Amino acid sequence: MTAAEGAPAQLPGACPRCRAATVQELSRSPVPDVWTLYLCTTCRYAWRSTEPAENTDPDRYPEPFRMTPQQLSHLAVAPSIPPLRESTPDT
Ligand SMILES: [Zn+2]
Repeated sequence: MTAAEGAPAQLPGACPRCRAATVQELSRSPVPDVWTLYLCTTCRYAWRSTEPAENTDPDRYPEPFRMTPQQLSHLAVAPSIPPLRESTPDT
């Protein structure tokens, strides 16, 4: 079964992490009506409908891990790219 099959699901109103309304259904459980997987297309956070409230509810999501869509373009690149080594003659 793909996400396009079956009855349309009620999408969460906001992403738990960034609170953007850009939530889409990503997948459904192979056994019908067990869980639905959602994806925030703004911050790429994904969660299953059966996860605890601190993973699915924007008001219960842990504050240290919350972010705004504006922060996304300022995130550090990890891991950082080390300086290139000086070239050496082929051996
Ligand atoms: Zn998000």
